[in-house]
Amino acid sequence: MKTIDLRSDTVTRPSEEMRKVIANAEVGDDVLGDDPTVNRLQAVVADMFEVEASLYVPSGTMGNQVALKTISRPGWEILCERECHIVNYETGGPAIHSNLMINMLTTERGVMTAEQIENSIRPDNIHAPRTKIIEIENTHNRHGGTIYPLDEIHRIRKVADTYGLLMHLDGARIWNAHIASGISLADWVRPFDSISVCLSKGLGAPVGSMILGSKPFIEEARRNRKLFGGGMRQVGLLAAAGLYAIEHNLHRLAEDHDKARAIAEGINGVNGFAIDMVRVQTNILIIDISATGRDSLTVLEIMQRAGVLGVPFGKTRIRLVTHLDVTMEECIEAVRRIAELDFS
Ligand SMILES: *Cc1c(COP(=O)(O)O)cnc(C)c1O
Repeated sequence: MKTIDLRSDTVTRPSEEMRKVIANAEVGDDVLGDDPTVNRLQAVVADMFEVEASLYVPSGTMGNQVALKTISRPGWEILCERECHIVNYETGGPAIHSNLMINMLTTERGVMTAEQIENSIRPDNIHAPRTKIIEIENTHNRHGGTIYPLDEIHRIRKVADTYGLLMHLDGARIWNAHIASGISLADWVRPFDSISVCLSKGLGAPVGSMILGSKPFIEEARRNRKLFGGGMRQVGLLAAAGLYAIEHNLHRLAEDHDKARAIAEGINGVNGFAIDMVRVQTNILIIDISATGRDSLTVLEIMQRAGVLGVPFGKTRIRLVTHLDVTMEECIEAVRRIAELDFS
């Protein structure tokens, strides 16, 4: 029985073709700015998003943390959604690297409204920390790969302009938002002062993320990348995989979205699994397993024995993610295996 691995879209392995491109990449010392493949990747990505410049970094976490370090001053406060990646999965980075305060806003489906943000900005007096950054995650991982409405982002930008705040986008899966919505990558990122995007999620590169923004911002980010230990030498080997991933694996993300929907429709209401179908917008699905009477770790163990892998999202929820290395047939097979589970 082949295990169907739906833990994350990061479990994909480089294809034969991608490995060939890696093996043949032209390289140089990127810390000296000499790697032609890294330079090409940075130029291609900047063009795609219609930003002035971009910078290659080893991980999405480093992308977010270097970007936040670059736009902030110690003691500033960030407004972000309670379930966001920078708070839940980056090891306390904003506090440790940049001495930032965090104000987490609670939302129904990951979308902070402009009003909610405006009401959370602190008054300008000697008692209060300075509220200076708004952080948005698109698509929103812990809310099930949901797409942030672009008109709400524009309304938030107006608030940011009124109060002099900066905006950071955690766009690890902005590619999925682009493919699912038809809205261009440039339109998605234009309202932001700093942006990070991942090449190693749905696009299937083995390593790598990009920071995007203005030329002066990227120059300062390059300095902070070195500070964080992220200056890499002949890293064109990995950048080549990123270029390949962008060229070959962007448009096929629609298939991952179809697969997620097929699984969600197949297992919603089956065996005590409940899915908020409104949230199934891209390649992530979150299953509420309360009705099984078991906790998420136990349910995952039973699923694993049946050859289907997911990850826990707290005690009562499980996340499944579709990706390049699972076929539609395997997703349908996963539905069949889940339907046959016994939680009694
Ligand atoms: C995966 C992810 C990141 C970056 O994670 P790394 O594992 O460090 O590459 C950032 N934000 C979100 C929303 C993510 O899902």
